[in-house]
Amino acid sequence: MITVEDALRRIDEHTALGSKIEISLAEAYGYILAENVLAPISMPPFRQSSMDGYALQWSENKAYTVVGEVQAGIARNSALQRGEAVRIFTGARVPDDADTVIIQEHTTREAAVLNIDKMPPLKANIRPKGEQVQTGDLVLEEGTVLNEAAIGFLAGLGFHTVPVFEPPKVGILVTGNELQQPGQPLREGQIYESNSITLQMALKCAGIPEVSLERVGDDLGETVNAVKKLLQNCDLLLISGGISVGDYDFVQEALEKNEVHEVFYKINQKPGKPLWFGTQGKKKVFALPGNPASSLTCFYVYVWPALRKIRGVKTYKTKEKTAKLETPIKNPFGKVLFLKATVSDGEARQLGAQASSMLKSFAICNALLIVPADKEVINPGEEIRYIALDQL
Ligand code: AMP
Ligand code: MG
Repeated sequence: MITVEDALRRIDEHTALGSKIEISLAEAYGYILAENVLAPISMPPFRQSSMDGYALQWSENKAYTVVGEVQAGIARNSALQRGEAVRIFTGARVPDDADTVIIQEHTTREAAVLNIDKMPPLKANIRPKGEQVQTGDLVLEEGTVLNEAAIGFLAGLGFHTVPVFEPPKVGILVTGNELQQPGQPLREGQIYESNSITLQMALKCAGIPEVSLERVGDDLGETVNAVKKLLQNCDLLLISGGISVGDYDFVQEALEKNEVHEVFYKINQKPGKPLWFGTQGKKKVFALPGNPASSLTCFYVYVWPALRKIRGVKTYKTKEKTAKLETPIKNPFGKVLFLKATVSDGEARQLGAQASSMLKSFAICNALLIVPADKEVINPGEEIRYIALDQL
């Protein structure tokens, strides 16, 4: 049995950044930029009017003659003399001879005569070329998370593909004779299978929308074959259940038969003690205990940071926070406890239903409190560390 820190360190040692791939911008949501991006063009690429109005040479004159019009998208430069103005619209190219745009609300127009009601300052309402970025500027750094704004910004610079870190292909193997699919009638002795959907949703949040899923009964041959099949196509395999010491727990043996090498088995924690982690070349396998709360706790604590590292998140290690404890916690187990809790305004409140078989409190918590193995009691008002699940 190893410590939580040791387990995290060993997983980290076996986890490397994903390789660089170029993908279409439309598919890049949530991916991490794998290179610094330099602006291929200036933005805006030309002097642009920021308003609907008239472009002119600034003067104290109260009347100008309108000599033309520039719409957005027109390439031509309109020549302009002193005392002349051109009608212009937002986003249109400002004539080289103009230095100011007056908004139409501050003018009165009679045929070709433009009366100036209120002259703006010189250079008003013109976006200079390269105001936002100049060609060659470093505009986004490697490691940037590609959200909608970053993707839009890159599109505005003309990119249609982007270099990102390749996320791992993930497989899930669910084991258990007692498991029935939701939507089907439940027979005596059965329970509904919930770990696969929980893990799929958690993976989705972690930036892995697609997974390969296999289900097997508690049977060595079936488990060996399913592990083999999933490892052919996946970089990372999550196995649910069958990793404890029962007579019908075949996962460890099935992993051995597939030459997945054990890095560790069992962590001094509650829930989730029988977590198994191993590798087959660069492929990684997490065999998660079947109890739903154990499985999800192990996912958050161990799988999540590994996925973040592979996907290129620079700050992939989970940052623990601290809050003030409201109600006392006892830990007679000599293990690290991960307790479902709510934290608000810096105050932590442990929830009921902490058993590893229960998701009831997990469903409404926003934090996992971390109780150190050697801490037998934490009293109200004391500081407690926690993982903020809503800010992972
Ligand atoms: P195991 O780790 O296979 O010994 O399973 C531990 C407990 O978790 C047992 O009570 C199982 O019935 C339950 N369990 C295992 N797999 C799942 C699953 N996919 N969904 C819900 N409960 C499960
Ligand atoms: Mg089982």
